[in-house]
Amino acid sequence: MDYKKAIIGKVSRRKQRETEAHLMYLELLRRHPDLYETEKAIRGLLMDGVKGKSTDSKTLDTLKHKREEILTSLGVTKEMLDPPYECNKCRDTGLIDGKPCSCIIKSCTTDGMETTANFEASDLDIFPPHERERIGKIYDTAKAFCEKFPFTNKLNLIFMGKCGSGKTFLASCIASALSKNGFSVIMLSSFAFVNRMLKYHTTFDEDKLAYLEPLIDCDLLIIDDLGSENIFKNVTVEYLFHVVNERMNAGKHTVFTTNLDDDMIRTRYGERTYSRLFGSRQSAGFALSDKDLRTSEYAKPNARTKRS
Ligand SMILES: [Zn+2]
Repeated sequence: MDYKKAIIGKVSRRKQRETEAHLMYLELLRRHPDLYETEKAIRGLLMDGVKGKSTDSKTLDTLKHKREEILTSLGVTKEMLDPPYECNKCRDTGLIDGKPCSCIIKSCTTDGMETTANFEASDLDIFPPHERERIGKIYDTAKAFCEKFPFTNKLNLIFMGKCGSGKTFLASCIASALSKNGFSVIMLSSFAFVNRMLKYHTTFDEDKLAYLEPLIDCDLLIIDDLGSENIFKNVTVEYLFHVVNERMNAGKHTVFTTNLDDDMIRTRYGERTYSRLFGSRQSAGFALSDKDLRTSEYAKPNARTKRS
């Protein structure tokens, strides 16, 4: 779905909820004469104000209070008459300063990963004792990143580690924390990322931008398991560079998780991509596992995190 459709959908859902609430109120007025009379008196007084006559504010308050009492006795809540917004940021207009609101960007990405991970649920005991302090510092860095977001020291974070080192879990914690704070976060596997880019690259639909735009516009993009995707000529490396480079130019953040180490990233994606996206001063890499983790006793299934 592209932004335009998402915005039209959001606005029309709002209109529909407002219309339903209005019709419900009209029905209440029809069925309850006391409510009708009170409403009529309130409107009469309000009209006096519009016409320039002085309004009897004391009577008005009494009438409004009476109206509230009648509605409460009928079991009608404020939310039923004035439905809350789906998104308080844009008040369901879908736009903020003429640009798509984060709720719209988020809703345009259906291949994203949903996550319930959070920092409170993290457990450093899954790591070998001699690693806990070091890993704990990485977790603290991730938490600080979320607290300062978007005014962080680094734009890109790269969490490196073997299967079971908890790198996806850590990235998920960041996703949850920032989503909770109202930022648009898109987390997707590098496999899904490349699939989207492939669709964008090979499609001639007029709404093909829907594949690309949200990935560039969201507040935080998380690409999980970099290195597990296929390398398609003219697509994988080119779009990875394009998307993240555009984001960096706009001061936007990207988080990667990967099994690869620095040298492998350089070899796989080339020097230009490596130095811009991963090796620049705006990027910081963190190794979540030492090279021997998989063969250590802590690599046994029952001692490891369920997530990779
Ligand atoms: Zn919104």
